[in-house]
Amino acid sequence: MEAGIWDIVIVGAGPAGCALAARLSEDAALRVLLLEAGPDYGSEAAGWPEDLLNPTFLPVNTHSWDYYHRPDAAGRELQLPRAKVVGGSAAINGAMWIRGSALDYDDWAARGNPGWDAASLMPAVKRVETDPAGGPLHGSHGPVTIHRATRDEQSPLDHAFLESSQELGFEYVDDINGSEVQAPCVGQTPKNFIDGSRQNSSLSYLRAARGRENLAIVPDVLADRLLIEGRKVIGVRAADGREFRGRETILCCGSYGSPAVLLRSGVGPAAELAELGIEPVVNLPGVGRSLMDHPQVARQSGLTSFIVKPEYARNTPTFINTMLKARSSQVDREIDIHLYPGETFDERADGWTLAFGVSLQFARSMGSVRLTSADPEAPLAIDHNYFSDPRDLEALCDGYELLQRIATIPPLRDLLEGPLRDGPHLQDREALRAVVRAEVGTTYHPSTTCKMGPLRDASSVVNQRCQVRGLSGARVVDASIFPYGPRANLHFSVCAVAEHAAELIRAGH
Ligand SMILES: Cc1cc2nc3c(=O)[nH]c(=O)nc-3n(C[C@H](O)[C@H](O)[C@H](O)COP(=O)(O)OP(=O)(O)OC[C@H]3O[C@@H](n4cnc5c(N)ncnc54)[C@H](O)[C@@H]3O)c2cc1C
Repeated sequence: MEAGIWDIVIVGAGPAGCALAARLSEDAALRVLLLEAGPDYGSEAAGWPEDLLNPTFLPVNTHSWDYYHRPDAAGRELQLPRAKVVGGSAAINGAMWIRGSALDYDDWAARGNPGWDAASLMPAVKRVETDPAGGPLHGSHGPVTIHRATRDEQSPLDHAFLESSQELGFEYVDDINGSEVQAPCVGQTPKNFIDGSRQNSSLSYLRAARGRENLAIVPDVLADRLLIEGRKVIGVRAADGREFRGRETILCCGSYGSPAVLLRSGVGPAAELAELGIEPVVNLPGVGRSLMDHPQVARQSGLTSFIVKPEYARNTPTFINTMLKARSSQVDREIDIHLYPGETFDERADGWTLAFGVSLQFARSMGSVRLTSADPEAPLAIDHNYFSDPRDLEALCDGYELLQRIATIPPLRDLLEGPLRDGPHLQDREALRAVVRAEVGTTYHPSTTCKMGPLRDASSVVNQRCQVRGLSGARVVDASIFPYGPRANLHFSVCAVAEHAAELIRAGH
């Protein structure tokens, strides 16, 4: 089954690759090959390592690509987790399932991408999920099943967080995904898990597709570069020398991985490639540029952690059962801040803490992904360039201040002993900026490094059919093609984009 020429070779089995493989192989006339650098544990939870199923923490040190951010001025090296496994980074993620804003999808279209507006994407959005919340915006037959913590599953600290947030004016909503508008609110977090287990894309998308005669899944294949004849892509070459040929090759290696494969293939900024000894095939200056993320002051910093009074410690970790959406001073519409509470034992306190992530969900700073060598095993040079747009720093500082206010309002205040670590005085904005700058981390949402755009946009990499400019037979479909970072955790949007792309690709075959 692996030999011969495939109709479609998909490289990378994350949410995008699995969704594409599942949807494209529904057409029995298409022979589809799905390649992945990591192992394949199948589509039954019983076959999976326990830590990849447990959604109460992020197992970022297992199945890791070992990506790191360029050291900052203080020499700090920030880990940029990505999972190497059939199922992709969904196998280690927080399982938060958050709808993208219609405003952001409409902005994608306005940037010169007709057909990628909110209304056009809606059928794809609904095909992804099965959400028992129901209603006109939710899907009911999709492969990704959504769960919300019942009131019984929530802890007293969850309840207190919800109440203190409402005291500050945040409306409680039953369904955070129930509107196309991202408005300030607080509520339960929709999660993609079943029976307490994180559902990655192998467990969701590939479950029904495995066993189809026209689909083969080959793990442990590290794609080095595209096989290119003239300007035509005829497949992909693996680091171990194996070649996989297809009429069409689709890169789904994620926002760090997809530009890396293109660059090793000679597709990217020509002068930069030549310096690395890579013969340029297509001069595409945008490959690896425009890197976006959602910067975060993460719970690990201790800056956003509060010691729980011993009588309220449940001795059971929780992970973002509830969440809050807020608007900083830097946007005039919708929201740009998320707060993520979780109960965790902290050795620094030798006790239980309520630790928050403060995440900036609408950031404007852009960085880059570059090669350090033509060797597919070599580390990448990744620079998110956080706060290069100063509005991002102000907005994240606003988010930090908001959290401090919520934590000092009853009833939440009465359950906490106080901060784990003394942060800057809220009146001292300069000190706050310095701390946030020094402690910034990722919300693990890289995007936009092979962005979709019109021909006139010299920084675009793919067209509106996800085809790589200057080549035939090659597409990219994953978070890297987002024209701009949406104000929501990315998993839902990645699946919707892959569903939409699958329709376009099937229509063309
Ligand atoms: C720790 C963490 C927590 C997160 N939490 C959330 C959350 O709670 N909610 C949410 O919505 N989003 C979350 N995300 C983000 C979300 O998981 C990603 O946006 C999503 O997985 C991206 O999908 P993708 O298909 O674009 O890329 P990926 O999921 O990264 O998949 C890419 C796949 O390609 C493979 N690959 C890469 N390079 C090669 C190569 N050269 N050869 C072969 N295979 C290759 C990789 O091994 C991987 O399987 C989180 C991410 C992380 C890392």
